[in-house]
Amino acid sequence: MKIAGLQKLTLLDFPERVACTVFTAGCNFRCPFCHNAELVLGHIGEEFMTEEEFFEFLSKRQGILDGVAITGGEPLLQPGIDSFLERIKELGFQTKLDHNGSRPEILRDLIDRKLVDYVAVDIKNSKEKYPLTAGCSWAFLKNVEETVELLKEGRVPYEFRTTVVKELHEKEDFESIGEWIKGADKYFLQQFEDSGELIEEGWSAASKEEMQEFLETVKPYVKSVALRGVR
Ligand code: SF4
Repeated sequence: MKIAGLQKLTLLDFPERVACTVFTAGCNFRCPFCHNAELVLGHIGEEFMTEEEFFEFLSKRQGILDGVAITGGEPLLQPGIDSFLERIKELGFQTKLDHNGSRPEILRDLIDRKLVDYVAVDIKNSKEKYPLTAGCSWAFLKNVEETVELLKEGRVPYEFRTTVVKELHEKEDFESIGEWIKGADKYFLQQFEDSGELIEEGWSAASKEEMQEFLETVKPYVKSVALRGVR
């Protein structure tokens, strides 16, 4: 497990938890609007701190933090993610994973072993536009479909979320996403924000009105839907 960054305190990354956030490098997708280009395009082997240094930090946060959010890049590409989560749980912290949906077999194993307490999975776009939006091959769509079904089994709290990009998403896509994730517990529409560190330039945010329209489109399909980061 290679740690590429650490945010020592977050009230936003892990719902209802005071947490820290661990960043991992590398991703098997290439979403052109990805705001973490440096992490995604960097080498998986690059290390910001060792596991031992991280656990030294974490053991000093017992009673202060209650959760650890692990994000990327794509955390489930990391060899040893299971033992990393195991050690976090042994110290009494809850765990949250951000995932792009591409590794359902690994996620299933982590859920079976009760190593993850909350999962956030990206739904990049309607199935028709998946490779275009995620910069991945069609083969990955099957994996994301499997991940959606796995989480809908409801064995672990989860959310689905879409970063909405004006040039990539339109109303019809949210009809299609709604049909796909029908019955899901929680779905968030996040407004795209240009971090200045994108994989490709030229993307912009949908307006507040468009975001609201997309929310209304998907509302009939899911138990709860909300906007995030709308300005
Ligand atoms: S936004 Fe896309 S490319 Fe960036 S980390 Fe997430 S899945 Fe990978």
